[in-house]
Amino acid sequence: MTHHIVIAGGGASGAIMAANLFRLGDGALRVTLVEASGEIGKGLAYSTNNPSHLFNVRAAQLSAFSGTPDHFERWLAIAYPQIARNGPFVPRGIYGEYLEAALRETAPVGKFRVLSQACVGMRQLENGVEVTLADGSSLPAHFAVVATGFGMQKPNEGLLSNPWNDPLPEDKDARVLIVGTGLTMVDTVLSLLDNGHRGKIIAVSRRGLLSQRHALHRPLQLSTADIPLGASIHYLSRWLTDLVRTHVANGGDWRDVMDGMRPHIQAVWRYLPTESRQRFLRHAAAFWDIHRHRMPPAQAERIDAVLESGQLEIVKGRFVSATRCGTRLFADIVRSGWDEPQPFKADVIYDCRGVRRRADQTLPGLPGALVEAGAARLEKLGLGLEFDRNCALVNREGEPSARIFGIGPVTLGTFWESIAVPDIREQARLIAEKIASGGRVAPRNSLASLP
Ligand SMILES: Cc1cc2nc3c(=O)[nH]c(=O)nc-3n(C[C@H](O)[C@H](O)[C@H](O)COP(=O)(O)OP(=O)(O)OC[C@H]3O[C@@H](n4cnc5c(N)ncnc54)[C@H](O)[C@@H]3O)c2cc1C
Repeated sequence: MTHHIVIAGGGASGAIMAANLFRLGDGALRVTLVEASGEIGKGLAYSTNNPSHLFNVRAAQLSAFSGTPDHFERWLAIAYPQIARNGPFVPRGIYGEYLEAALRETAPVGKFRVLSQACVGMRQLENGVEVTLADGSSLPAHFAVVATGFGMQKPNEGLLSNPWNDPLPEDKDARVLIVGTGLTMVDTVLSLLDNGHRGKIIAVSRRGLLSQRHALHRPLQLSTADIPLGASIHYLSRWLTDLVRTHVANGGDWRDVMDGMRPHIQAVWRYLPTESRQRFLRHAAAFWDIHRHRMPPAQAERIDAVLESGQLEIVKGRFVSATRCGTRLFADIVRSGWDEPQPFKADVIYDCRGVRRRADQTLPGLPGALVEAGAARLEKLGLGLEFDRNCALVNREGEPSARIFGIGPVTLGTFWESIAVPDIREQARLIAEKIASGGRVAPRNSLASLP
């Protein structure tokens, strides 16, 4: 029987999912990709056409298929030989093109279609799934996958500009305030500089932390048994700090430890007590992020240069609100060590606080609709929907679905390490294997396997 699979969301996760289904499905399936924008493989991360916006993952890790690790590099060498020579950190803007090529290569003629619509609901039936679209029509499917991304990109908050959608200031001397000091801030500063910006740029965040830079290193070989799974975040932090200290004292690099931990992060998160997860989010996530999500050297050099010249200043403080006075904006910021907010004058304020935010009790879009209908429930900390270890959607009663799965950032709360390409393609492989086998999966193939 030919299975029909509907994927809601056609960003990188949806496209990688579809390509893996075709690779493993042996021609015995049809895929409908429902993508609101109609653009395949781009989503939030890869819609940029600024060549300064680089991947923070090396080209060697960007294949859509975990079983063919050089697939992306081979495509790059033919499609963009100059970029391939400049490697290993390539512009993000070419990735959508690669994913379209991967789909062309794998999808049998007549078995793949894209619907430019929003998916508004999914209902599991006895032998399949009913997928509802924004125009009121519905699609019958055997399986469905939620690939709607972070889904938390908010409309502009009051006077704050959106770094992904809003234009750069025409006035090259404008005073720019950026709320957030993570990689979105880095993208925004590079966009401003590429546009010839001369004015002062101030970036503010509670801890004023800047991402570390990539460097050549050799990941430490760690087995899951080496890691104190289930320990409190306090114990884990001390264990990790000691490991780094010892490794560095022996001539190694801290990055070796971070990247050695990477294959085990999903297991660490899975076994972390809820209270420890909360403490991690409150106190340690910002430190973790700057070491885990590093800047490519080319970006780091430009950021260092503008910090040194004084054009970019990083301020430690908490953004409270913004007000307008004539043509000027004022941001209230409580600086570290102060009680009262201080007004910061700016011509433009960008909101670069990122997309990983607590959803509290409501989620927008399809995830929100699934929760409301009882087909899904929020993960305990409200970081997204809850999935089981095989990426199956967990319903209101706590039962994993046999037919609806999730991939990418939408599974962040369950896996934590599920937003970068190497993790997404691993999820895609797992889900595709499960679907190809009619819904069963060998326990050893689960994500976050037991030690
Ligand atoms: C700015 C930025 C830079 C990043 N850089 C890197 C990097 O360098 N390296 C790396 O490995 N990872 C990076 N990431 C992580 C990134 O999240 C993933 O690599 C990946 O792009 C996630 O893709 P996605 O398709 O799940 O989500 P998204 O990119 O958010 O795409 C979701 C798609 O679903 C569509 N959609 C949403 N709801 C519906 C609906 N109801 N119906 C139909 N369509 C819908 C949207 O239109 C969108 O196209 C970055 C992320 C961001 C935001």
